[in-house]
Formats: sequence, C-alpha cells, structure tokens
Amino acid sequence: MDYDQFFTSALRRVHDEGRYRYFADLERQAGKYPQAIYRDGKGAKPVNVWCSNDYLSMGQHPAVHHAMHEAIDSYGAGAGGTRNISGTNHLHIQLEEKLAALHKKEKALLFTSGYVANEATLSTLLTFLPDCVVFSDECNHASIIHGIRYSGAEKRIFKHNDVADLEAHLADYPKSRPKVIVFESLYSMDGDFAPISAICDLAEKYGAMTYVDEVHAIGIYGHKGMGCVEKAGEESRIDILQSNFGKAVGIIGGYITASNALIDFVRSYAPPFIFTTALPPAVVAGCMASIAHFNTYKAARNTLWEVVKLTKHQLRQAGFEFFDAGSHIIPLIVGEARLCKQVTDRLLSVHDIYVQPINYPTVPKGTERLRVTPMPCHTPEMVKEFTLACTEVWDYFGLKRKKQTA
Ligand code: PLP
Repeated sequence: MDYDQFFTSALRRVHDEGRYRYFADLERQAGKYPQAIYRDGKGAKPVNVWCSNDYLSMGQHPAVHHAMHEAIDSYGAGAGGTRNISGTNHLHIQLEEKLAALHKKEKALLFTSGYVANEATLSTLLTFLPDCVVFSDECNHASIIHGIRYSGAEKRIFKHNDVADLEAHLADYPKSRPKVIVFESLYSMDGDFAPISAICDLAEKYGAMTYVDEVHAIGIYGHKGMGCVEKAGEESRIDILQSNFGKAVGIIGGYITASNALIDFVRSYAPPFIFTTALPPAVVAGCMASIAHFNTYKAARNTLWEVVKLTKHQLRQAGFEFFDAGSHIIPLIVGEARLCKQVTDRLLSVHDIYVQPINYPTVPKGTERLRVTPMPCHTPEMVKEFTLACTEVWDYFGLKRKKQTA
C-alpha cells in the first residue's frame, strides 16, 4: 500500500470541505492576557485572544504561578511514575480530598486530562456494569462518545436537553436493568444549560445512575464556583461528577468525584488511569491554588460577568443576533466552513484579533461559528474594538447581522 498517498487523499477531503485545522502559532503573554504574540512565518505581532477557555484568566494569576514555582522547587519537575508506582505525591491526595469536599462527595480521582477522565470512567463503568444501557445527550463531547463506544454497551442517544425524549427511551427498559444517563451541565458550543434537576428526577424514577460533565461550568457557576450542580443544589442526586483543570482552573488535568466505592472501582479497573504517569506536582499545586482562589473570592467571576454582559450588549447594539442561554459563551454563527475561516483570518490579519473558527465535526455542518469567550481581562476598550472589528468583517463578507430592537 502507498501509505502516504492514503494519508494525503484523506487530508485532501478535509481541505476540500474547508475544515482543515490550522493551529495558530500563539504565545500568550503572562501578565498581559488576553494578549498573545502571533507568528505567521513572516513576522510576529501582538493580538488579542477572544476564544480562550482560560475563562477566568487563572493561568496568569500570581497565586497560581507562585504555587507552581514552589512545587517545582520542592518536588522537582515530574511525578516520577504512575500513581501506583512512586508517582503519588501528597499534593495529589490533598487535591482529591479538596475536590471531594467541595463537590460534597466521598472521594475524587485525578486524571491527566478531562478527556481521559471521561473516556476512562465511562468505558470502564459501562464495560463492567452487567447488561448496562447508557443514555447519552446527542450533543455530548467526543470524550464521552468515545468512552461509550469503547465499552460496547447498548446505547440510546436522546435529543439535546429533551427530558421527554430521554424519558421515552428510559421507559423502554425495566427498572431493574442497570442504566447510566450521561450529559454535560453546560454545552460549550451553544452555551446552553442542561435541565439537571429534571434529569435527576428521571434517573430516580427509572433506576439510573447520573453522570455529568462540568468541564465548562467549574469556576464560574455556583456559590463556590464549583459548577452548575452546586448551583442547582443537586450534589446528592448526581452519582458521578466529572470536570477538568484545563478551562477556568487555567492549567491541565481532569477528575471525577463520586462515592468511595465507585472511585475505588475506577481507580482499580480503568487502564487510562492505572497505566499512565501521574500529573506533575507543580500542576497539582497550581490547580489547588487556582481552585482555592475562585472558591474564596468572587471578584474574578464578577468581573467575568461584567465583561460578558458588556460584550453581548455591544454585539446586540451592532445588530448581531446570537443564541443566548445566559451563559458566558457567545456563539456567532457564520454557517459555512470556508467562510468561517475567512472571517477569522480577516479578524486576525486586519484587526489583530484571534478567534478560532469552529467547524464540523465539532459543530453540525451549517452552524460553523466563532465561539466567543469574554474573559475578566478584556477591557471595555477591547470589547468595543472587538465589536467594531466583527462589524467590519461581517460587512466585508456581506454577512447578515439581523438588527435587534432590544
Ligand atoms: N468535556 C468537554 C465537554 C469538553 O469540552 C472538553 C474539552 O474541550 C473535555 C471534556 C476534555 O477536557 P480536557 O481538555 O481537559 O481534556
């Protein structure tokens, strides 16, 4: 076989559909977020980033940096092994205890990323629970889909956030049969929220376990910033809560919280947990500092909401119409992959603004978009510049901005 020929033609298909992924060469500037240095091969220039998942800018927080530096000085750079073979640092144990307490669960377990947390937990759980059926929201993240697929368990996909459809699926099975309902508390592409309490009601009625991904909610929602489940007061009715440290926590890593028995089961049976090097102590120390910060101080969250409100307001004033579920995520739909890339290219080249185009398969075809994520470090001037830049680019490409009266 001509292997390279195979790869080249597979890549050509992605190019032809206008959804080849280009990685922008960016160097974020600590202390100057949202600024980054962008390189295009010919030169370098400062740009403002409007699509970061470091929602609270905790990646540049002095307390986080200090904790990370100190941990490197104290423990060295890496963990030195898997959790089982010399890789467990006291910091891992402390962070797991902290997370369990904050989420009002018995125990927590760290993973190297949110993706691994989902894939490992779901694939293990659904493989071992006898004759289990999984009910998964149609908009669930790739890591959830892959975890389910890997297990080979029987699955039902329910319509997005549609409790009536979920119930119709659940009702097809006897209450005694093991079931898991898997959903996200906040969906990252439309920025809409799951009906957590209604899903918990159904889980109780039909004898199902509940599994929720809070990756986009931690740090931002709930009194202590511990997510939508905290906000809904549903900690006791969620069996497994998964989240990560790569978004509002500002670093990297993932975790689940659940009962003692479930955590010990995943710890003992999940290969992606067992056979991989543990998170570096400095990462764990940084995560602890970050969580402690947003847990105790509401300032960053309050500022985030002010910037979100201002950005939405100014975009609306400029005639942009977008789906708004009241979250911190603003989806600006372009609707065509190639055009979406052109829009973001022009924002970058003419206006020094970086927003990544989001194309299929991350979002359905026809809904290609800019996924705008304001941060506390965006100033009112930056919001104004961003709105003016989007207006110019939309006009340049003849894209419609429906005028709103509100
Ligand atoms: N779950 C959801 C809903 C996500 O959006 C993502 C990442 O974008 C993940 C899980 C994976 O998290 P991580 O980036 O920590 O691997």
